Amino acid sequence: MKIGFVGLGHMGAPMALNLLKAGHAVTVFDLSASAMQTLAEAGAQKAASAKAAASGAECVITMLPAAAHVRSALTAEDGVLAGIAKGVTIIDSSTIDPASVKEFAKLAAAQGNAFVDAPVSGGTGGAAAGTLTFMVGGSAEIYESVKPVLSGMGKNIVHCGETGTGQVAKICNNLVLGITMAGVAEAMALGEALGIDPKVLGGIMNTSTGRCWSSDTYNPYPGVIETAPSSRGYTGGFGTDLMLKDLGLATDAAIGVHQPAYMGALAQQLYQAMSSHGDGKLDFSAIIKLYRAQKG
Ligand code: NAD
Repeated sequence: MKIGFVGLGHMGAPMALNLLKAGHAVTVFDLSASAMQTLAEAGAQKAASAKAAASGAECVITMLPAAAHVRSALTAEDGVLAGIAKGVTIIDSSTIDPASVKEFAKLAAAQGNAFVDAPVSGGTGGAAAGTLTFMVGGSAEIYESVKPVLSGMGKNIVHCGETGTGQVAKICNNLVLGITMAGVAEAMALGEALGIDPKVLGGIMNTSTGRCWSSDTYNPYPGVIETAPSSRGYTGGFGTDLMLKDLGLATDAAIGVHQPAYMGALAQQLYQAMSSHGDGKLDFSAIIKLYRAQKG
């Protein structure tokens, strides 16, 4: 298939690479020239704009930080909607709010295009390995039509329901993730303060009831999990500012439906504190610094 891909960051770049490996012809666009160069060296075509990436494409994928970036990539003069042919589907894998999804779907529908929300979980490791979970919002027909493309980048392609429900699933998942990471960080730092070897504590947790992704795959204590961002200076993972954005999406959505989100609101403040201390670009597991800093 001819695929236009917009947004080649921590997630988008390895996802586009997997589409190339799956045999698709991929035309890429990112505001960063160096991000495009890396993909070009792997066989992708570089485009001068999102509009150029979309023109001639049989499917367009966007993977951008937040709703404002998606809006601009879609609606700018040189954006996707200006270049895309009628009938071509736009798949947005960014994590954004369900209300914006509905707005973008309306804009796309007005010119004869489907807009599908298909946010992902699995992190940068899952993006590189092609094992992401895609949470797809849209009609059953659209879901069936995008499944073959998404299968090139992920292992579980789940139909969540109508437009926007993919983002509902994603926001709820990341609400849990933000909270569990804070919990594991708190426990690992307490264990350290009380004198247990963090590797022993991490190992016990991972065969006990405290086990979760934040402890067994992404443990925030350096050296407990060699492949986790904590073991490489909290680089190259899921940025704190992105987690902060996702918790904001969850707490805002909760307010919208008069639903309490006690733990999410507290976790949001913890990541906000990290961000204000200048750690917004670090992987979100660096939240453990808030606890370990107490010891000087
Ligand atoms: P990132 O910040 O690493 O990359 C975003 C890319 O978009 C950058 O390369 C940037 O130059 C580009 N960009 C921004 N505006 C643009 C525009 N108008 N046109 C073209 N390119 C533009 O972000 P990421 O970590 O790849 O995350 C992308 C999305 O996926 C976010 O919504 C995030 O919440 C979600 N997500 C991230 C992870 C993760 O582990 N990093 C996991 C799951 C979901």
